[in-house]
Order: sequence, then C-alpha cells, then structure tokens
Amino acid sequence: MDITCIGGGGHVTGAQYLLKDSAGDLYLVECGFFQEGDVDEVVFPYTPKDIKAVFLTHAHIDHSGLIPLLCERGFEGPIYSTKPSKDVGALLLSDMVKVMSYEEKEGRGKALYREDAVKKALSQWKGVSYHDPLLVGSLRVSFYNAGHVLGSASLRIEDSGDGKAVAFSGDLGNQPSVLLKKTEYVSDVDGAFVESAYGGRIHESVEVRGSLLKQAVLDTIHRKGTLLIPSFAFERTQDILFELNGFFERKEVPSVPVFVDSPLAISITAVYETYVHDPAFFSPEVKDMLRIDPEVFRFSELTLVRSAEESSEIARVTGPKIIIAGAGMSDGGRIRSHYHTYLDKPDTILLFIGFQSPGTLGRALLDGIEEITLQRRKIRVAAQRRFISGYSAHADQPLLLEWVKALGERTRLVVVVQGEVAQSEALATRITEELSLDAVVGEAGKTYHV
Ligand SMILES: [Zn+2]
Repeated sequence: MDITCIGGGGHVTGAQYLLKDSAGDLYLVECGFFQEGDVDEVVFPYTPKDIKAVFLTHAHIDHSGLIPLLCERGFEGPIYSTKPSKDVGALLLSDMVKVMSYEEKEGRGKALYREDAVKKALSQWKGVSYHDPLLVGSLRVSFYNAGHVLGSASLRIEDSGDGKAVAFSGDLGNQPSVLLKKTEYVSDVDGAFVESAYGGRIHESVEVRGSLLKQAVLDTIHRKGTLLIPSFAFERTQDILFELNGFFERKEVPSVPVFVDSPLAISITAVYETYVHDPAFFSPEVKDMLRIDPEVFRFSELTLVRSAEESSEIARVTGPKIIIAGAGMSDGGRIRSHYHTYLDKPDTILLFIGFQSPGTLGRALLDGIEEITLQRRKIRVAAQRRFISGYSAHADQPLLLEWVKALGERTRLVVVVQGEVAQSEALATRITEELSLDAVVGEAGKTYHV
C-alpha cells in the first residue's frame, strides 16, 4: 500500500490520507477541515470521482469537515464510520454550514459548501460496528474503539492483494475517559499512522478532575455566584453533565440550577442518550450509574436552552447557578453573551475544562487578561479563573507510546501525524529511542510505502 499524507503532517487539524492498494484502487482515510488558518480554497490533489470509499475514524470536523465538499466535487462512493460518528457528524457538519454561512454574510470569506452537500454526504454514509470487518475491494477494514469521543475508532486496514496491513490511530482518548470504554489497541500491522496532538506532553492525573469540578460548584454556591464553563458541544459537555448528575444523585453538592446553553450540545447529548445502553461504547462507571439512574445526562436542576430568547432570560435567574455554553475556546457562541453579564463580577468562577489555543479569547482569559472588548464594549475581568486539564479528550505521550508498543513486532514504520511539529517530533524521538522502531514525522504531500 502507498499512503500519501494530504493533510495531517505537521498540523493537528486537516487530517486526510490517500491510500492506494496493491490493485491500484484509491481510498481516503479522513477528509478533515484545516482549522489552523484561513482556508479560501480547497484543492484535492486527486479526482474525487476516482476514490472508491472513505473511511472515517470519528466525527470531529478536523477529520470529517471536507467530506461534503468531496461529494459535491464528484465523489460517489460510500463513507464508512461507526453509527454514532455518522449521527454526530450530521449535526457537526450542519453546524459548520451555519457557521460558514454566517461568516460569509459578515463578509469574511465564502462558505465551502451548503446544507445540500451535507445531505448528499449523509446519503452515501454508512454506519458500521466495532470489530465487524468491512470488505471493500481488496481491503478488509476493522474499527476499534479509540476512546476519544463517542463512536471514535482506530482503523486496521489489510490489503488482501499483498497481505500488508496498516493502522490509523485516529484521535486517541485520555484514559480513563469519564464516559467511554477503554481505548483498544490495534496490532499485527506493517505500518501505522499515529496522532500526536499531545505527543510531547504528560497530562496531570485524571483522578483529581472530578474533585476540582465539585470544588468549583461548591465554591460557586458558597459565593452565591455563577459558574461559567465554556465547553465543546461534543464529549466535554456530556462529561460535565454526567459528573454533575453524579454529584446531585449522591448528594455531594446542594441543588443548584444548571443551564446548557447550546442547541448543538443539546442535540449531541440526545445522540449519547440513544447509545447509552449499547455495551459497545460506555465505561463500567456509566453502566453502574444507569442502574441507579436511567437518565445519566439529566437531572431536575437542568434546563436545556435552545432559543436565543431563553438564553437571554438566564441573566434574570438570581442566586448561584451553573452555565455551560459554547464555544469551547470562547471564539464564538453564546458563552460570549454571558461574559457581558458575569465576567466583571468577582463572585463568578470562569472554569476552563479544555486546552485553549494561542490567539483565542479563551487563552487570553486563561492567561489573565484584565480587560476584554466584546461587541465594542470593554469588560473588566473580575471573575476568578480556573483550569482543569483532566477532561482533555486526547492521550498524552505515555498513552501514545503504549498504543504504538501494542502494534507488535511486525511493525516496521510509524508515521507520526496530527500534531504541531514539536509535539510530533517529541513523540517520534521517544518511539525511536524506547521502542527501537523507525518513526518519522509525517510530511504533507509525502507518500509512505507499507
Ligand atoms: Zn478528535
């Protein structure tokens, strides 16, 4: 097999790999959107019509975001992912259309595609189960739980023509995840493409994340203030809802109103509820909780806020409260309107639960900026700022090394991808030194032979 890194080399986002099998047939693994800069034009360095199928590890936009464009430009074949990835993918891609149309209206660039392209993609999209090998052309493709977000998978692709096999890690989860089953390993492959978003980092222990969250809730109640949690709609919001449900269920915190102010997060939570009883996806802790409480993402204190009118009414709720709203890095979404109301109040706690990219409003706030300007209004930041890293959805260096180690003795080549260059290099060095494997940092445009 020849695998070309179209995207994913030297960058976290924009994953896309062109795979040519021994029969000369072309496939794609991922078809992700590049999120680290402005994208005016997308060029596919192949003819979309020539692609036989797309294999998708998970629904995040940086892995799936160009699929509708690929379909619009002539790709007619099937798209394969797990069923939850298809369900969440439908929501994320439609949301992406809304965001792009809004940006276009505001005079910032042109939308890459519209809702009809998403509909076309969904008509070609097929859901598969973990461990159920899929036979496409001369390929045998298996999906393994990656533990990153609901439905996320690592792939093992075997070419029956020459017997060679390759693994794609997709994004690998932090362990243990709040909600998901443990990451499964892929083995018995000749080559592997492994992610490296945190290739050079070691996360702080996940054990403390629940108690740090609980403390933030208790402190908010004590101060009669507001706990603001900027959150990604996918996985992180559901993690927090599950944790809060547990706190209330076990009476570890007093009752306090909780608002999820994000239509996208509400829709994605409904997808989680669809699969929550399926043993393929969730952790033993979720199963245990389900025995006591059949609704693990809902509690009597919770209000799901869909409309903009309801959102503005939250400000009238007096007393302590918790608001969870997007966007995760505060660069858009309803969290910004809550900043107008609450950031200048010293009884507010602003709690970050995910990595904040340099250049985003979230990062500036986390780094201690004293004043921000939102919609031409200056806001002095009096809120207390806190950060919990344990809810990260990405594996750190020790976990990535474990995944690579489990590939087994057959592996000859490891291509480190989906990370900033420094992170990828750090992981490649450790793989070479510790595991005596040939590890290289993936380069855009370069072809690797397995
Ligand atoms: Zn991801």
